[in-house]
Amino acid sequence: MSVLKRSIPVVIVGGGQAGLCASYYLTKSKIEHVVLERSQRFHSWKNDRWDSFCLVTPNWQCRMPDWHYNGDDPNGYMVKDEIVNYLEDFANSFKPPIHEGASVEKVDRDKDGKFFVKTSESEWIADSVILATGSYDLQTKPEFAQNLNPDVFQISSKSYKRPSDIPDGVCLVVGTGQSGVQMMEDLWIAGREVRLCVGTAPRSPRIYRGRDATDWLFEIGEYSKTIGEQPNPKLTESKTNHYLSGRNGGHEIDLREFALKGLKLYGSVCNMNENLIQFKKDLNKNLDRADESYLKICKMIDEYIDKKNIDAPQKPLFEKKWLPEEEIEFLNIKKENITSILWCTGFKTDYSWLKIDCLDSTGRPIHQRGVSDEQGLYFLGLNWLHTWGSGRFLSVAEDAEFLVQNIKENLSSSKNKTSCFQSL
Ligand SMILES: Cc1cc2nc3c(=O)[nH]c(=O)nc-3n(C[C@H](O)[C@H](O)[C@H](O)COP(=O)(O)OP(=O)(O)OC[C@H]3O[C@@H](n4cnc5c(N)ncnc54)[C@H](O)[C@@H]3O)c2cc1C
Repeated sequence: MSVLKRSIPVVIVGGGQAGLCASYYLTKSKIEHVVLERSQRFHSWKNDRWDSFCLVTPNWQCRMPDWHYNGDDPNGYMVKDEIVNYLEDFANSFKPPIHEGASVEKVDRDKDGKFFVKTSESEWIADSVILATGSYDLQTKPEFAQNLNPDVFQISSKSYKRPSDIPDGVCLVVGTGQSGVQMMEDLWIAGREVRLCVGTAPRSPRIYRGRDATDWLFEIGEYSKTIGEQPNPKLTESKTNHYLSGRNGGHEIDLREFALKGLKLYGSVCNMNENLIQFKKDLNKNLDRADESYLKICKMIDEYIDKKNIDAPQKPLFEKKWLPEEEIEFLNIKKENITSILWCTGFKTDYSWLKIDCLDSTGRPIHQRGVSDEQGLYFLGLNWLHTWGSGRFLSVAEDAEFLVQNIKENLSSSKNKTSCFQSL
């Protein structure tokens, strides 16, 4: 099979919302480029989400460049197909030069200092490369998962689509990030036997003092704060998202309320061996932590309301509706009829194909607002690349515009250099 070989100013790796935002601004600036996508555009939204998925952030936060959400429900939360349609309409508005089915196997420097990008069918020499492969590429789960009795069905959150994916019997959901809590709820609503291992994730109010908490936080200016303004940037970057839901018009999730209705909660899993699951005795602590983060957001909003003298409904009374009677340390899966484990224990990026030394010792890219120390190499779409909204719909476009501006300046300065040399 013949391999396509081409030189081009810019290669974008990844055809998700981040890659296509960059493509939009490059197109607008008339900078030739290609988007290499190993699957199809918006693959993650089309294939990696579950059937009942809906946004956790309100629709008004969907701000693709020159394509802000303009439907009739700005305060609602789009479901999966609506999100895909919104993105497809955005892409159709400018027809990005995307190669689908082009999995990037290598990004390296060539002997002239340009970038060499290789897929199975094509090779590209580029002046700049934007890596927009997302924050959620590889799913992580603890190694001890392999010690569990093989009769137990194990599935990860990217593969879970609907309750019927889960065999009869009790399903233990591990993790309380956004996926874990919403998948637990999906199974619960379907009347399935489900239990939950509660991790350290924070939680957020949904409607608080008359408005969506995210609306207040936006108005307060929390989403404009940069990573550099955070007290501990490294910690902020690695934090799990707050849990809450956009399902059926949106609601907050208080696991204590679920416990009152009969959901069995455990602390975080720390070991598995054949038929035995071991938990840390941290259920109480983790529920308290989630409440603390919830109350911190409430306090921030209360202070803002007071400061601005806003006429807002009174705050609801906070109460711990349920307390664990004991911290369960061991569970026998046979006795409890646990037939499946749904792992919702997080993700990490995959840069195994990136042969340029631009990652720190933990594998995170070294960059300033997406601009790497390696001239011409850029990152986009990562959580907290610049602000809270960088890895989300809210601010990815702003980051993309910033990178494209940087690329434009580099291209024009290298053109100037070339013309200087030519006139010597
Ligand atoms: C469960 C979940 C819920 C979320 N909910 C919200 C929400 O409510 N609101 C919000 O604003 N954000 C939400 N997000 C965050 C964010 O908006 C999404 O993760 C979004 O998909 C990020 O877009 P992206 O383009 O950065 O990455 P992705 O959508 O992951 O796109 C990256 C693309 O790169 C491709 N790729 C990867 N490696 C290669 C390679 N080697 N070669 C070629 N292509 C490659 C992939 O196939 C993929 O299509 C959520 C994320 C998750 C996981």
